[in-house]
Amino acid sequence: SIDILAIGLPALADKMLTQRAPDLGWTLHRPGPDGLPSPEVAERIVGVAASGAATVDARLIDALPALKIVSVHAVGYDMTDVAHARSRGVIVTHTPDVLNEDVADLALLLALGTLRRLPGMDAYVRAGCWASDGPPPLSRSATGLRYGLLGLGRIGQAIARRLEPLAGSLAYHTRNPVKDAPWRHVPNLVDLAAEVDVLIVIVPGGAATRGLVSAQVLGALGPTGVLINVARGEVVDQDALVAALTSGRLGGAGLDVFADEPNVPQALIDSDRCVLTPHIASATVETRNAMAELMMANLEAVLADRPPVTPVPD
Ligand code: NDP
Repeated sequence: SIDILAIGLPALADKMLTQRAPDLGWTLHRPGPDGLPSPEVAERIVGVAASGAATVDARLIDALPALKIVSVHAVGYDMTDVAHARSRGVIVTHTPDVLNEDVADLALLLALGTLRRLPGMDAYVRAGCWASDGPPPLSRSATGLRYGLLGLGRIGQAIARRLEPLAGSLAYHTRNPVKDAPWRHVPNLVDLAAEVDVLIVIVPGGAATRGLVSAQVLGALGPTGVLINVARGEVVDQDALVAALTSGRLGGAGLDVFADEPNVPQALIDSDRCVLTPHIASATVETRNAMAELMMANLEAVLADRPPVTPVPD
């Protein structure tokens, strides 16, 4: 049989894999409490299907001597040790592009929702405050503001296209300017933060971007600035973010991702300056179906000795 290890997949992807496995001649396994399958199973595993949050480290890869592919159900593959997989000749794939529009939509929702204080306004009506206290305090206009993007890849460009009709100005920071992009490149992140009203973070996670949005960047964004993070929690110095928000040195934040999910600092939960969502930027029926299909297509291709559909870049 063809043995597959499924790790932490979201319900829809797990169901698709489970339903299709018999027709493909695949036998599914789950890791034990130590994160590994039993030794008899481990030596037969040829494919791993992993959620974006599942850790696929050197220990797991080395426990699977017959492994050919790690198919990650996410565009971000920061939880997989790609260098180690490569050194073992294991292919790593991910699910780019199919989630661009939904993630960009959520970035925009968080930006507008933070500026217009949408959750607070909703709560105001539900609590009966409108009737008892009259109109709530004013919010802030989103149109005409200066927007900045940290990251201008597949998703960053989809966010930029949405901001075009709204933004007074739009600039971005990446390590390399994007060829032919109509938006202004700012070579230094602190400079970008200092000149914009809203900074939207959409870079990959991992060692290269950990803490990139530092206390200094948040300070540059300032008391009327808004931070939106739809990338990975670790890209932002979360302690610095909590301190800046609660002291009023940062105006507001819209956050889909956190440093230690699913744990969210109480100070953020208590703050009316932020809008919080539980890492759901790609979590729609349509996009989760497309991601699961792509995860399956990569597994099927590599296990049939065909090239992967969407390998991670070199
Ligand atoms: P891409 O690889 O297409 O784009 C990444 C962008 O980040 C590029 O513009 C790149 O430019 C920039 N970048 C990378 N490293 C740095 C750095 N050190 N400093 C500044 N800029 C940097 O990725 P996608 O747009 O497809 O996805 C981005 C990330 O979004 C994913 O990796 C994932 O972590 C996150 N994501 C979160 C989701 C959620 O549910 N909240 C859903 C989907 C994705 P350059 O290389 O020139 O620096």
